[in-house]
Amino acid sequence: MDAQKIRTTEGRGRLYDSVLDTVGNTPIIRINNLSPEGVTIYVKAEFFNPAASVKDRLALNIIEAAERSGKLKPGMTVVEATSGNTGIGLAMVCAQKGYPLVITMSEAFSVERRRLMRLLGAKVVLTPRGGKGFGMYRKAQELAEANGWFLASQFETDANADIHEATTAREIVADFAGERLDWFVTGYGTGGTVTGVARVLRRERPEVKIVLSEPANAQLVASGVPQERHADGTAASGHPAFEAHPIQGWTPDFIPKVLQEGLDAGAYDELIPVAGEDGMKWARELAAREGILTGVSGGSTFAVARQVAERAPKGSVILAMLPDTGERYMSTPLFQAIGEDMNEEEKALSASTPSFQL
Ligand code: PMP
Repeated sequence: MDAQKIRTTEGRGRLYDSVLDTVGNTPIIRINNLSPEGVTIYVKAEFFNPAASVKDRLALNIIEAAERSGKLKPGMTVVEATSGNTGIGLAMVCAQKGYPLVITMSEAFSVERRRLMRLLGAKVVLTPRGGKGFGMYRKAQELAEANGWFLASQFETDANADIHEATTAREIVADFAGERLDWFVTGYGTGGTVTGVARVLRRERPEVKIVLSEPANAQLVASGVPQERHADGTAASGHPAFEAHPIQGWTPDFIPKVLQEGLDAGAYDELIPVAGEDGMKWARELAAREGILTGVSGGSTFAVARQVAERAPKGSVILAMLPDTGERYMSTPLFQAIGEDMNEEEKALSASTPSFQL
């Protein structure tokens, strides 16, 4: 940018037929204040999607793949278990396309998520915290079977990793064309991101090392304990290495089939655990020092990218996924230290001039 001149914009050069056409093509942004000396970190800012998370991609493709295959007929009800972002994405897509939507979600996930889904016209059926991810997932299966609804099956469907292969990965390859890229860092929820992106990076950018992360207190992949599964790929039980963790959207209490495909294909080179506290710290740093608002999973991915950067040779380039926006976490520990009332410094500022003191 030329700092001597006012910034101008040109528009996108097109008119959009619907909000659905604005999904994807998220920007990859350089980190300027939080990269260690000599190493460049970029982030892929998925909060630029219309419903503000990476899951808009998958939500749109699950619905459109089912329309293409004929599984989803006009007016049919869609049902899904989700930690929130898939539900918000599905609610956006179903609102636009006119499908009724029922979401099952553990009461443990942030209340912003429920309210957003309801605002977008969905019904949200809460499941007890104690039932964990597996509980909300069973509930969605039951409701689908009992009512003949279309179960979105984000944890098993091919439509998940396929859309990351067709969009997320293509965007990364296109934006880094002719540029150095040494590491790609991501966590997993369903595993769609890592499985889909790895397919393309392995083929087209084989020099890129893929780092997968999971919560320090729920290291399902690192445990090496295989997931019990039904013949259709759905999880048959909760995984023994699971513990409740604060990184919403990451690591459910089972290893999803979509992730398993990536694990079997060798989709990662290194597995690095991260503590939720660390993720929250880096989400706050990204906000306060870079002006980048991301959630706890984005902060956690960035925490891992920082670790990689600390030991990377000079000149290295790292890309970290930022799956969603920080605004989705106002009611959670991420915002706990952020007050509503004036602190001492703000009160002193207020008192320093005569008018409008509270
Ligand atoms: N972060 C957040 C906030 C999410 O909602 C999700 C998806 N559940 C992920 C990360 C992980 O993405 P994926 O399902 O593609 O592994």
